[in-house]
Amino acid sequence: MKNITLADGRIITVNCLSCSIVTGEVKPNGGTIYETKFFHAHQDVAYPIRGLVILASKRHVTCLDELTEEERNDYIHTLYQIRKAQREVLGIKHVYYFYNEDTTHHFHIWMVPRYDWMREFGRSIESVRPILLHARQNRNRTNEVEQTITAIHELKTFLSKLR
Ligand SMILES: [Zn+2]
Repeated sequence: MKNITLADGRIITVNCLSCSIVTGEVKPNGGTIYETKFFHAHQDVAYPIRGLVILASKRHVTCLDELTEEERNDYIHTLYQIRKAQREVLGIKHVYYFYNEDTTHHFHIWMVPRYDWMREFGRSIESVRPILLHARQNRNRTNEVEQTITAIHELKTFLSKLR
């Protein structure tokens, strides 16, 4: 068990944060963006980046090769749908994808849209952590958080029409 401080300041004790989110025990700010039988998409608004999506498996596994065939098919299909929504609703040209299997949570991939302001942090993998930290520390202003929440609702609306 570990203690986690949520964006709203509440401290909760969980075994696995991903499990708590996909079961609804912890409600991410902005709510669920999209949900399938096997996957759950949400955003961590502690990083106010418009259109950033975290896609997590519902099952508590950590490695890609632990997914069943059905889960794998659902995964690529869901990733595709979210990517399509990011482009069509928010005009996002490029996305960085990040996932590490030695996570303290369970299987979840970060889909981080690339914006012009990120150029000063360089390109490729080495820019991702500094960008996330910069967003959390310097872009956590009311209007950026509001834009991020608005984008969540826009993605949610678009994705809900696909089913
Ligand atoms: Zn879990």
